[in-house]
Amino acid sequence: MSAPDPVQSDRRYMRLALALGRRHLGQAWPNPSVGAVLVGGPPGAERILAQGVTQPGGRPHAERVALAAAGEAARGATLYVTLEPCSHHGRTSPCADATIAAGVARVVSAMDDPDPRVAGRGHARLAQAGIAVSVGLLGAEAARDQRGHVTRILQGRPAVFLKLARTADGFAAGGEGRLMISGPRANAEIHLQRAHCDAIMVGVGTVLADDPALTVRLPGMAARSPLRIVLDPCLRTPPTAGLVRTSATVPTLILAGPQGSMEAADALSAAGAEVQRVPVTAEGRIDLPAALRFLGARGLTRVCSEGGPTLADALARENLVDECLLVTGDCVLGQPGLPAVGPNLAARLASADFAVAEEYRVGTDLFTCHVRSP
Ligand SMILES: [Zn+2]
Repeated sequence: MSAPDPVQSDRRYMRLALALGRRHLGQAWPNPSVGAVLVGGPPGAERILAQGVTQPGGRPHAERVALAAAGEAARGATLYVTLEPCSHHGRTSPCADATIAAGVARVVSAMDDPDPRVAGRGHARLAQAGIAVSVGLLGAEAARDQRGHVTRILQGRPAVFLKLARTADGFAAGGEGRLMISGPRANAEIHLQRAHCDAIMVGVGTVLADDPALTVRLPGMAARSPLRIVLDPCLRTPPTAGLVRTSATVPTLILAGPQGSMEAADALSAAGAEVQRVPVTAEGRIDLPAALRFLGARGLTRVCSEGGPTLADALARENLVDECLLVTGDCVLGQPGLPAVGPNLAARLASADFAVAEEYRVGTDLFTCHVRSP
């Protein structure tokens, strides 16, 4: 029997760590959702000692979860982790210190953490303690998973994921009705992706046209519904709207301009929504870069825009789109309608900044994911 390929097994354990980290995307903010796997035993006869993922609300961190589960067995083990272990003292001591104290012999890490409180110091601390450290395995996959965290740290705003459904001839339908373009399996996939975002954002036009719930409607996943955000410069959202009435269960944040009346704000607050004022443009629209900086300051890392073609194109004009998922159904509108992809978005997607990361079928729908290079 030939000796096992260490690189192959490293990749396998890192893939597992990445899958673990993805589980809590949408739940760990303001912290990144990280995966960690502890592996012990001699090469060829290794076994998984423990696994961890950053817990909802961002603590404890993945490494802590895995180290606690492994206990004494962590001595001499290898830690696979999808992001650099932290080195700064927060509410608990740093994960790098906990890893050293547990006697871990080797750390395989997918990427550096750009957080200025860490930024290489976690890896350096491990190496100084005599731990064998290697950085960068499956780094591109990790960076895509950590796009929200990295964008918030480096740009002060959450990453923006657009979702647009279109007919086979390229037209959008209205609001959540747009999902009717898609088949039931595609809708389930869209709801699953919603659960992995920190917030879903729409414009007030979508609320007025469709009164959408914007929740995760999958069995057992109702508690995974993210924050709902409405961009509503003049406060036209009715207090009777579904996403206002249900805000005790799933919070709703309305971003208004200074021109929205105090009375409207009070009525929405009384109905359970949170109203915040953000800057507007000269035309009276929500200033998108300012609104996203506001959301970044609140700790949001991953915002999904389901607001339809108009909001999508406005985000593209400001170069605020990080990923764009186009869901193309098999039905045809057969007459001129509102194009799902507006001129600004079309230009961005055609530029060298974007590439198609994946394309796959879900039931009768084609999912095409355009990703901006980091
Ligand atoms: Zn940590």
